[in-house]
Amino acid sequence: MTDRLTELTENLERVRRSIADACTTAGRSPDEVTLVAITKTFPLDDVRALAGLGVTDLGENREQELKAKAPEAQDLDVTWHFVGQLQSKKARSVVRYADVVHSVDRLSLVTALSRAATGLERSVRCLLQVSLAEYGPGDDPGSRGGVEPGDVPALADAVAAADGLELGGVMAVAPLGGDPEKAFDGLASVAARLRSDHPGADWISAGMSADLEAAITRGATHVRLGRALLGTRPVLG
Ligand SMILES: *Cc1c(COP(=O)(O)O)cnc(C)c1O
Repeated sequence: MTDRLTELTENLERVRRSIADACTTAGRSPDEVTLVAITKTFPLDDVRALAGLGVTDLGENREQELKAKAPEAQDLDVTWHFVGQLQSKKARSVVRYADVVHSVDRLSLVTALSRAATGLERSVRCLLQVSLAEYGPGDDPGSRGGVEPGDVPALADAVAAADGLELGGVMAVAPLGGDPEKAFDGLASVAARLRSDHPGADWISAGMSADLEAAITRGATHVRLGRALLGTRPVLG
């Protein structure tokens, strides 16, 4: 085993244990939580190593990186997630490679994704990125993106009605400097309201390396982990 493979193996074991512990605390089954490994800035060798260790879901936050890695990993049986801010003009490229887009935050993007998906004869699962800025310290509102909670129902209806798109649920990033438990409680109520209109939209993508447990105890179905799994990355993304 290379040193890197040993490191990734140990990190993955530690992360799986953290997820299992948080599930125990929450009275949930670990089967309810999918680990999405965020491989941004890390090389294809790491993608292959994680897949070899049984990681089935991988994520990127930049179109260029997704476009570079996903085709090289086509022999792996993995689901690709796109988790970054997305410009409409990049929608086609993202739809080509990603099975799930976590960052749907506006109507114009719904239109672009739908057009791309129908053109490529693909179906894309879309999560609505919800702004939790109201739970942050307030000095940097909206910095982490997302639709305002009050605008979720209209955006959800648009995704549900769009050809080529499937409404999957919600995604959020907890605000820096805020209380992640309060933020994820807020997200849980947005998610509950969404499910009452769209029962199939039951994914909650929440929790990163720093706030994994808070997210799982508040109902996260997908956790997006980068650093905890792959180590520190250069200050890019
Ligand atoms: C980078 C990133 C993550 C992973 O963050 P870590 O702190 O490295 O776990 C999760 N979600 C999004 C949207 C990201 O851009």
